[in-house]
Amino acid sequence: MEIIRIPRILQDTCFKQRMHGRSIGFVPTMGALHEGHLSLIKRAASENDITVVSIFVNPMQFGPSEDLASYPRDVENDILKIRELKADILFLPDNSLMYAEGFSTSIQVDGLSERLCGHFRPGHFRGVATVVAKLLNLTSPTRAYFGQKDFQQTVVIKRMVRDLNIGAEIVVCPTIREADGLAMSSRNRYLAAEERTTAATLYKALSRASQQVVAGEPMTRIREQLHAMLSAEPKITAIDYASVFHPETLQELQETGQLKEVLIAVAVRIGKTRLIDNLIVNR
Ligand code: AMP
Repeated sequence: MEIIRIPRILQDTCFKQRMHGRSIGFVPTMGALHEGHLSLIKRAASENDITVVSIFVNPMQFGPSEDLASYPRDVENDILKIRELKADILFLPDNSLMYAEGFSTSIQVDGLSERLCGHFRPGHFRGVATVVAKLLNLTSPTRAYFGQKDFQQTVVIKRMVRDLNIGAEIVVCPTIREADGLAMSSRNRYLAAEERTTAATLYKALSRASQQVVAGEPMTRIREQLHAMLSAEPKITAIDYASVFHPETLQELQETGQLKEVLIAVAVRIGKTRLIDNLIVNR
């Protein structure tokens, strides 16, 4: 596996691979890798000639009061895990090379970026869209792989790719969970023992809401019970949102109407840790 730290070198290397007719599968991450990330890398490796993984904790997507400084970093172990999966290239850039002095361009996907998490993390999706556009320009992938865990991110990126005619297929992969249903996340490392137990409630609440959606129960009751189940947990200190949404527009649904698929999504705070999770439900 080749480790590349200079954006220009990554761009030349990937460009040459594409010129030789090879497909590239690209997996962007912020490191502290777990089985969720590894599932994306395995999928990319199985569907492409060349697999490129990036690790970059992108400052632009963190708000001023968020956890950029304390975000888990574990590069040595990450390298071992990626090597084991036989990825071809790992891109490990320095902040100063990704954001040169005077950097002043950003990508804003209007509307979609303001809903759900965007409401509580202003500027977050601008940071995500900008760094993903840069990474797609550097790797010119055939396919880029993202987890359903960050569902809104996949919707924002798909829209950006469509609107800006970026020639990569966006592949969304299933959420990988712990045995008790908790979606794997680098931020789970922040949870103290009791908080970790509480965190399993997110999936339980989503699963129950999903059964209610399938049973055709009224939206108000589903929303109320979702909130009630989360509020009953003393360690859940805030519910940013917990509701049923249109999976493409991300607008909150009052009724499911003719929709074949809906998104049930939650974001809560457990102590200082913000956790998100979602399910797509077929009706
Ligand atoms: P992150 O390092 O948190 O930016 O995540 C990098 C990629 O891994 C994103 O596309 C995430 O959606 C994806 N990812 C994170 N957690 C999971 C999970 N539990 N299952 C599947 N994909 C995940």
